[in-house]
Amino acid sequence: MARSAFSEQLALRAALLKENGLDYAFDRNLQRVEGPEPQAPPQSPVQASSDLTPPSPQLAGGDPAARLRALRDHIGDCRRCRLCEKRTQIVFGVGNPKARLMFVGEGPGAEEDRQGEPFVGRAGQLLTDIITKGMGLRRSDVYIANVVKCRPPDNRVPEPDEMAACIPFLEAQIEAIAPEVIVALGATAVQGLLGVKVQITKFRGEWTNFKGTPLMPTFHPSYLLRNPSAKKEVWTDIQTVMKRLGMEIPKKG
Ligand code: URA
Repeated sequence: MARSAFSEQLALRAALLKENGLDYAFDRNLQRVEGPEPQAPPQSPVQASSDLTPPSPQLAGGDPAARLRALRDHIGDCRRCRLCEKRTQIVFGVGNPKARLMFVGEGPGAEEDRQGEPFVGRAGQLLTDIITKGMGLRRSDVYIANVVKCRPPDNRVPEPDEMAACIPFLEAQIEAIAPEVIVALGATAVQGLLGVKVQITKFRGEWTNFKGTPLMPTFHPSYLLRNPSAKKEVWTDIQTVMKRLGMEIPKKG
């Protein structure tokens, strides 16, 4: 994509996220449903948004693994938003560059920040169980990434401008991998991908799409740690995904 078109798209997305903020929610019909007035996100002390570097057009060619490597090189020692200040390392993503299925989470936690790999903490163990015990796959069969690639301090939810700075890289990952299905884990993943804040309890379990790729929103594994009874809904959502991918659903028992 030409730089100007990209900048325009980025500015639009930033404006959309800023407008939606983390301040109110939409239902499935994108009607505003609750919350106080939107507030402008705090200014980043790191770089102005005009300094954001778009993924290079050269990332468009090549095989998925090469494209992902080129993208990672392009991201470099990223200082495009304030999350760089407290992170230990960038958590780019992991898995099969040609995965049919991609999981998108919110952002790295403490363990991910330490190890440099997404979903390796307690919530990660749960996601791994969903992939291995539930779906009968290996972690290395799927691809796992996050809306932001640096750990937000104290595991807070990423700010809209932080998401806007990082989303082009997630989009470039999705473009390179070209998964058949994306599973968005939790409301922040949906917000990052679709640009609107949703109530995940109302939004989960029904197909939507990200730029034409079928997207299934479901609960974040951290939510399942706090609310184990919601595991059955996630299993229902995962079975829906498996059916779409033509996978056999393992029999219980
Ligand atoms: N939660 C996320 O959203 N992503 C991770 O990588 C880990 C925990």
